[in-house]
Amino acid sequence: MGSSASVPADKHIVIIGCGYGGKELALALIKLNANVTVVDAKEYFHHNVASVRAVVEEDYARKMFIPYAPTFGDHFRKGKVTGIDVTAKKVSLEGGDVISYDVLIIATGSTGPMKEWTLSREDAVKKYSHYSAEVNKSKSIVLIGGGAVGTEIAAEIGTDFPHKKVTLIHGGAQLVLPNAPSNFTCKVNCIVKQMNIHVILNELVENLADLPDGVHGSYQVKTNKGSTVDADLVIKATGLKVNTTAYANSLADHMNDSGTLRVNEFLQVDGCKDVFAIGDCTDASAAKLAYVAILQAQYLATNLPKQLNGLPMQPWSNDCIKYLIGLSMGRNRGVVCTVGGWMLPEFIIVYAKSRDMMLARFYSEMNQKIPESK
Ligand SMILES: Cc1cc2nc3c(=O)[nH]c(=O)nc-3n(C[C@H](O)[C@H](O)[C@H](O)COP(=O)(O)OP(=O)(O)OC[C@H]3O[C@@H](n4cnc5c(N)ncnc54)[C@H](O)[C@@H]3O)c2cc1C
Repeated sequence: MGSSASVPADKHIVIIGCGYGGKELALALIKLNANVTVVDAKEYFHHNVASVRAVVEEDYARKMFIPYAPTFGDHFRKGKVTGIDVTAKKVSLEGGDVISYDVLIIATGSTGPMKEWTLSREDAVKKYSHYSAEVNKSKSIVLIGGGAVGTEIAAEIGTDFPHKKVTLIHGGAQLVLPNAPSNFTCKVNCIVKQMNIHVILNELVENLADLPDGVHGSYQVKTNKGSTVDADLVIKATGLKVNTTAYANSLADHMNDSGTLRVNEFLQVDGCKDVFAIGDCTDASAAKLAYVAILQAQYLATNLPKQLNGLPMQPWSNDCIKYLIGLSMGRNRGVVCTVGGWMLPEFIIVYAKSRDMMLARFYSEMNQKIPESK
């Protein structure tokens, strides 16, 4: 995407949200000696892509939450953003503090099952350690939601606990992605079958609200088509919602119905010259993926300095998104497919993702060491 110009030191760049996109951009801008502050409500980066492994592996949860402070030092500010004044160029935090900016990047992502954002690190570790303990003692486990996350969790349990009964209930007609090419879905179905995972498609769970997530007990999961599945553990993988907390009050006119921000071809929030948005909280790409958030961060890391130096920015293009999806299916299996529908050899995704869920990569990027196993 071209080489980066330097960033004028008198420009204060504020990034709200230090998830996949915000973290990538903050690291790149700090390397350019930019005057950057990254604000997040949590004190740690949740490598949530790996949450599926924490469901089966005791002691994994401790490694999945990487503290910001050692990586970002004074560039990091903990706080929940509750308002943005684009005229005064100020961001307000819960509790009343205000941060001024010259350029603002909103990277507040999404939230939902396996991706909470309000827990302290201690509570987050407890929550995910609890999942693996409950999986351990359960014999019949129902996963609700057969998108990428539900399918990955089912395969994690199928790999580490092949004698447990696993049922995956999905409202759609095929697992993972409704628009995936048939050879991708075929390969996923084949692995699921090899793992003896029972799949129920085109059925919606009716008593969802009565079923606690991740708590060992005795449950009957009932669907709208009359199926009943007995379970001693239910795990919900029912999808993510855009996290609009930072901007719902101030930028409501710039939001779509789903809560995403409307951005132009330079990822600028429509009508706000100094405000950009990247990742799950924008409508720049239909694919809501960490991979895409990181590509958009890399795009801005190259193009923001141009804009700040009065040079023309290149437009963002979804053509740089090469992969449709890379699915881990337990530690030793996976399925990966390009946007053009080409299936790549399985060892690529096993090596890149399934074997350690990219833990080493994210620790290395944050210049920290993975904690020793207990
Ligand atoms: C279990 C699971 C597995 C996944 N696996 C994959 C995968 O294999 N590959 C892939 O590409 N994608 C995967 N995804 C999707 C991926 O997690 C998201 O697309 C990605 O997190 C989006 O990144 P982001 O930078 O837009 O925002 P996020 O990563 O959601 O980060 C947003 C950050 O903003 C902070 N924030 C939000 N609001 C505020 C506020 N008001 N004030 C302060 N801080 C705030 C949050 O605390 C958070 O740290 C997975 C998702 C889940 C749930």
